[in-house]
Amino acid sequence: MDPPPVVRVRAEERVKDLVLVGGGHAHVQVLRRMVMARPAGARVTLVVDTPLAVYSGMVPGFVAGQYRAEELEIDVLPLARRAGARVVLAPMVGLDSKRRSVLVAGRPPIPFDVASLDIGSSVAGLDVPGVRQHALATRPIGRFVSRVAEVLDRKQSAGADRPFRVVVVGAGSGGVEIAFTLLARLNRAGLEARVTLLDGGARILPGYPEGLVARVLRQARSRRIEIRTGARAVAVEAGQLALADGGREPFDLLAWVTGAVANPALAQVALPKDPRGFVRVRSTLEVEGCEGLFAAGDCAHLVEFPATAKAGVYAVRQGPVLARNLESALAGRPLERYRPQSDFLTLLNMGDGTAIGSKWGVSFEGAWVMRLKDAIDRRFVRRFQVLDPTGAPTTAFRDKPSMAGDVPCGGCAAKLGQSALDRALTRIGRPLEDASVVLGLESPDDAVAISTPRGDVVVSSLDAFPAFTDDAFVVGRVAAVSAMSDLLAKGVEPLHAQALVAVPEREASAAAEETLVQVLSGARTAFDPLGVALLGGHTTKAAGLVVGFVVDGIAPSPGALLRLTGLRPGDRLILTKPLGTGVVFRADMLGLARGRWIQAALDSMSRVNLAAARAAREAGARAATDVTGFGLAGHLAGMLRASGVSAIVDVTALPALPGALELLARGHRSTAHAANEQARRGMVLTPDAAAHPRLPLFFDPQTSGGLLIGVPPERESDALGRLRAGGDEAAAVIGWVRPARFDGAAIEVRAR
Ligand SMILES: Cc1cc2nc3c(=O)[nH]c(=O)nc-3n(C[C@H](O)[C@H](O)[C@H](O)COP(=O)(O)OP(=O)(O)OC[C@H]3O[C@@H](n4cnc5c(N)ncnc54)[C@H](O)[C@@H]3O)c2cc1C
Repeated sequence: MDPPPVVRVRAEERVKDLVLVGGGHAHVQVLRRMVMARPAGARVTLVVDTPLAVYSGMVPGFVAGQYRAEELEIDVLPLARRAGARVVLAPMVGLDSKRRSVLVAGRPPIPFDVASLDIGSSVAGLDVPGVRQHALATRPIGRFVSRVAEVLDRKQSAGADRPFRVVVVGAGSGGVEIAFTLLARLNRAGLEARVTLLDGGARILPGYPEGLVARVLRQARSRRIEIRTGARAVAVEAGQLALADGGREPFDLLAWVTGAVANPALAQVALPKDPRGFVRVRSTLEVEGCEGLFAAGDCAHLVEFPATAKAGVYAVRQGPVLARNLESALAGRPLERYRPQSDFLTLLNMGDGTAIGSKWGVSFEGAWVMRLKDAIDRRFVRRFQVLDPTGAPTTAFRDKPSMAGDVPCGGCAAKLGQSALDRALTRIGRPLEDASVVLGLESPDDAVAISTPRGDVVVSSLDAFPAFTDDAFVVGRVAAVSAMSDLLAKGVEPLHAQALVAVPEREASAAAEETLVQVLSGARTAFDPLGVALLGGHTTKAAGLVVGFVVDGIAPSPGALLRLTGLRPGDRLILTKPLGTGVVFRADMLGLARGRWIQAALDSMSRVNLAAARAAREAGARAATDVTGFGLAGHLAGMLRASGVSAIVDVTALPALPGALELLARGHRSTAHAANEQARRGMVLTPDAAAHPRLPLFFDPQTSGGLLIGVPPERESDALGRLRAGGDEAAAVIGWVRPARFDGAAIEVRAR
């Protein structure tokens, strides 16, 4: 699909768009400033490839085992939420400076009036043969952090019959710290290690004072770290590094810490750049010749200060200037100038509780230097960490404005309660007689079905909900997936769709158009691969974004439909997706959800239930429904009632999305939870089940949840195998069907 054109209108007509790309050291400061005061008349969007930004200064300490990963991670998602910024969790793949839009893979461009890039850099030499396959590159730094932990854990559990050979390529400050800290980590684990630090240049730590270099060399000798300069790596094979002089260096672990090169995302961007591909910026941090477009940190080349190193300390100092200049650019005020510090405090972590430092040409070392480094680094990171390890706001954010707590949840949590719906339908009276109706109000199901004179059945469903998040593209995709689930749960593959979109009343026409483009483009990423044609629809305005779709398909005969009524005693109940979207997005509304929870929830909600529906049919499913706003309890009760049976559910088997159990344990609930929990009245709970931490999952409203299917007992493992092979890895048997109970209870919940 070609990206639709971005329409620009006169600036006075509308709110201005500020787009921040990347969650680097400068942008986290821009966001933090917005937590205190949001820029007037602007909508802020953060485009970021991953919600976890890593504070590089603490990475060597992490390698040494001095810090846990979460101590150096800044979760930009809750920070952005507190700053009132929309978050697009996707990498920028390009930027169109003429049409003023950020390009993101697989979705329409994101227009901006003012934008800023803080996307860091990449490691030089990744194109050296074998490096990508066999070396642990330090960038992207988040990936380095998770891989280094993996590699070292594996090593420590494997034991050793000879020294573990570590080769570090690149003897700048990063390489030096990685060499020392890797050695310290391995030694602490009781492993004998041999570390070699190689560099193609004439000396280590180019640009750093002699005194600092001398101290590092002395420490290296005392720890038997071999340092070789003039050793240029030209190729890597499994376990062997080839050098330009013909030498070979065997390794068990190869760390690649060579200098910075431009982030590959900049390769396709037509902006003024230096010969290495970094974006040329003036001292105002504005890109040369591109008014309103800024760049900071490693990705920027300061034209007036070309010798500025690619170091986090500069990105950090640029942050406050960038924040003020972005506000000025939005308001049409003059910009201020940034001047890099002429010298900065260098502190190198030796991994053993000491550090070597230098400032103004004076060098020093010892445990006190490490204590100083630790205090500086921790203080910096804490300023941006919104949540503590327990999930509560940190002291830095406890008194900062949170997000509106009384706003009801969106998505399928915005459903009218089951009993209100039942009462309303009773009050309007019986529907008209119509012999062609296969599924209608008389036999409520997930979809309606009408038989045709040909003998086949047209199956159709309407599904709509208010936005559960502020990324309209994602809302469109999830709404389309959710609408199709109604049909898929009936064993019918959708053919056509029509849209119902209410755009926010406050949006001027260009903004409303943009919202519509994002919604419909998101929906098409779900419809197009299934061959579902979007035929038409209706737009209107409402207080907030509401998106829905009518979808239809054809079943060969009424008997081909999977109905709610199909459960039989003995059937195994299988749920295909994990639960928890309601509580996770409730927490997100409050700025209390971690980025990786949101990412996992969005992945789950965006997954089409097509493979699950096919697996269900192939495994002989007799009944199915899709789990949405009434929660698992409500939808299961509906199926059991329709089938005239009861069920035993094992609460311990309920699959949960990352974060859902933590949030429920902290007392968070979707606004629809209490209404769903009314279903508890018709249940029997063993004491263990009633007290079980997974029980609240049962009532959590789901947006675009999985299918709940009933399969004959002998097909249980076949069904699970097929579901997991189709990508539903969390699919689980959550209970089994029994004859109706004498006490009328539909569900008995046990803890195993
Ligand atoms: C091991 C090691 C140790 C270091 N130690 C120090 C130190 O002690 N002191 C120091 O000053 N410097 C240090 N550095 C250098 C430092 O890491 C960088 O200079 C610094 O991280 C640059 O900050 P930044 O804001 O430019 O980008 P980064 O901090 O790298 O942030 C880039 C952001 O952009 C995001 N991003 C990347 N690509 C995209 C995309 N296509 N679309 C959207 N988002 C994207 C990333 O996820 C991240 O959020 C070290 C480097 C290494 C490798």
